[in-house]
Amino acid sequence: MVGSDSPLPLPWLVEPLQRALLQSAHALLLHGPEGVGQFELSLTLAKAWLCEGPADRRPHGAGCGACRSCHLIGARSHPDLLVLLPEALRESLGWGNAGDGEEGGSEKGSKAKPSKEIKVEAVRAAVSFAQTTSARGHGKVLVLHPAERMNAIAANTLLKTLEEPPGAGRFVLSSAAPDTLLPTIRSRCQALRLVLPKHDEAAAWLSARGVAEAAALLAACGGKPLQALEWHEEGIDARLWPRIPALLAHGDALSFMAWPLPRLVETLQKVCHDALSVSAGAPPRYFPAGSVRPAEIDALGAWWRDLQRIGEYAEHPWSAGLMVESLIDSARKALSEPPVSGRRGGVKSVHLPA
Ligand SMILES: [Zn+2]
Repeated sequence: MVGSDSPLPLPWLVEPLQRALLQSAHALLLHGPEGVGQFELSLTLAKAWLCEGPADRRPHGAGCGACRSCHLIGARSHPDLLVLLPEALRESLGWGNAGDGEEGGSEKGSKAKPSKEIKVEAVRAAVSFAQTTSARGHGKVLVLHPAERMNAIAANTLLKTLEEPPGAGRFVLSSAAPDTLLPTIRSRCQALRLVLPKHDEAAAWLSARGVAEAAALLAACGGKPLQALEWHEEGIDARLWPRIPALLAHGDALSFMAWPLPRLVETLQKVCHDALSVSAGAPPRYFPAGSVRPAEIDALGAWWRDLQRIGEYAEHPWSAGLMVESLIDSARKALSEPPVSGRRGGVKSVHLPA
């Protein structure tokens, strides 16, 4: 994952990093939209706190990238850093080798679906970790991402440690949905809000990483640069993006055969969102104006509900080819139903995300 191996923060995280370094609280809660770098900032902070290098080698107060501590973090084997992630996120975040006391990695080769939760056993291990003394004398850091993936038992286990903080331990929790956390967890953490970077800054950063049509891909990802880079790495071509609604309306499944299923479902949700907006007289959000045509609102509403349901299962190992064809066929039907005049307002029955 980008950024997690560099001692330097992502450019739009420099300011939040400096805010975080000024905090004296032993527990931080980074919150904001997904795809702006919550996990990256958590690791950047861990590197900064644990760094053993001289201050003048540490730009913006981040880790130096050259000392033993920074190298150990790069090798995922720092004895004073524990990273708690759901099994399902480890690989995509470049933290595949557990090496931190969690059970992760032990299921290699098994067919069990990786868990999307941060399990109570892992939180218990983290609590014990926080209570032992620092091995290298620069404190201990627990990174927990995303905090909303703890169930109530896991959250309560963590809460006890947050209430009685061990001497040298620091906690960095991050969440895209802080409202879903236990209020007692929130109240024991110093909150630090991350916002979407400026469009031009994020597009320039993407361009520098070889992303063609960076601005278009960034817009497709709702302004979230790390998500845009992930899409780019999955082979999704931004030049295709403005044509997607028309391809779907023609039932062109071939263009999407190589897409990861969760990404396709997410894209269909965006097309449906914009088709509903346009059909209700509002501007599209994810696609350029004019690329999404109005359609019959009830048909779109039914399609939206189907996509919400499918989205919950999109990571299941279904036969991808058949699934893609069926998804594209539903898209074609919903998008090609002509709008019925005088029926505006039906969109109220469908809950669109903010
Ligand atoms: Zn260092």
